[in-house]
Amino acid sequence: MTARTLFDKVWDAHEVVPETPDTPAVLYIDLHLIHEVTSPQAFSLLRSLKLPVRRPERTLATMDHSTPTASDQVFGKIPITVDAAAKQVAQLEKNTAEFGVELYGMRDPRRGIVHVISPELGRTQPGMTIVCGDSHTSTHGAFGALAFGIGTTEVGHVFATQTLLQRKPKSLAINVEGELRPGVTAKDLILAIIGKIGVSGGTGHVLEYRGSTIRSLSMDERMTVCNMSIEAGARAGMIAPDEVTFAYLKDKPDAPKGAAWNSAVERWRQLASDQGARFDLEVDLDAAQIAPMITYGTNPGMVLPITSPIPDKRGDEVFDKALRYMGFHQGEAMLGKRVDVVFIGSCTNGRFEDLQAAASILKGRKVAPGVRLLIVPGSQQVKQQAEDSGVAEVFRAAGADWRESGCSMCLGMNGDTVAAGHYAISTSNRNFEGRQGVGARTLLASPLTAAASAVRGSIADPRELL
Ligand code: SF4
Repeated sequence: MTARTLFDKVWDAHEVVPETPDTPAVLYIDLHLIHEVTSPQAFSLLRSLKLPVRRPERTLATMDHSTPTASDQVFGKIPITVDAAAKQVAQLEKNTAEFGVELYGMRDPRRGIVHVISPELGRTQPGMTIVCGDSHTSTHGAFGALAFGIGTTEVGHVFATQTLLQRKPKSLAINVEGELRPGVTAKDLILAIIGKIGVSGGTGHVLEYRGSTIRSLSMDERMTVCNMSIEAGARAGMIAPDEVTFAYLKDKPDAPKGAAWNSAVERWRQLASDQGARFDLEVDLDAAQIAPMITYGTNPGMVLPITSPIPDKRGDEVFDKALRYMGFHQGEAMLGKRVDVVFIGSCTNGRFEDLQAAASILKGRKVAPGVRLLIVPGSQQVKQQAEDSGVAEVFRAAGADWRESGCSMCLGMNGDTVAAGHYAISTSNRNFEGRQGVGARTLLASPLTAAASAVRGSIADPRELL
């Protein structure tokens, strides 16, 4: 039998009808994740067609994009102040109740960013197909699932049929060997990968991250890497499941139990790409060469080692426009540049290990005067872990603003925004113009770099504070 990649195996197992030159394949979807922003129109479509949700038990709903992060608004009597956000939250409650879909609602201790809670619950499992009306669904590929974002119309299609029409993407292996140096994190690794292949380097492909560096990453770190696959233009990113994956999933509430667990692990072990499996493209990286990374422009590919000066690409329209927006110039050092806001959170870096990393820098130190440090856990479970372990107390003592979970300042739909012209170091995944607020200037970096910069009040190399 032909050697197959991890991606081939998951695709083949879910292909209900193969693609032809004229028609896409029909792909069965194991898990459909939904949230308040991209589901309302899809529910309306079902209503107008008088259709039920085909497999409600394979649909998981939470609220994250629009939810407030102030405790008084989540648990107290203070109403949601952003009108559109309040409507979306109320609509999701109504829609899920009407269509019989389980909702992890506003005050549920299991609520959080959809890409954080599904793994925590054990709903994300190896070999699954997972979709969500959200670009960063690629996060779940860290478990060896084929996971990708879909549009609102497709959300309606999956509701109604539990399938999706798809053309099969090509495969691209990202081989990373060696050890990451101290102060260099999974976030720096994925930023370095995007810096190397560019924001269109993965277009039309599913990435498989491979090699000794990837195998040595924890699940939280693997999720950070897969999360940003979309920022390289890829359809999805995947990592072969292994003992690290199984240890993470064991005993999670919705993971298989008893004999079913043993047979699931046996099945999951077969998913790794076969020896000799061919990829359409391959890219190699040496982990030891990677430094802490930071973006200087308005897409995640405009990234450099934190000690490097801004390159000179004058005449490149995208570069010139980005530098004008950011208020930067070619040849300038990034280190020492002013920082107004530091945001630690999001589905890229809002997990417990990310918060632990930030706390390792903030412990015994204070946030610099004039800097706002906003720390938003990826889920209520992450929040509880941080409270129980003393990490939250480190944040409070440092002068950080420590919040309830949600997407928050990653995209500022809930009112947590950065002022026009202000510089924000953010552990999220997109530094597009206006992403964190009209006129806001975003610099993407790791939790270590973000925390170090909060302490210094300017862009700082985390290796100096480790
Ligand atoms: S944290 Fe940001 S990228 Fe992630 S799901 Fe929320 S808005 Fe999207």
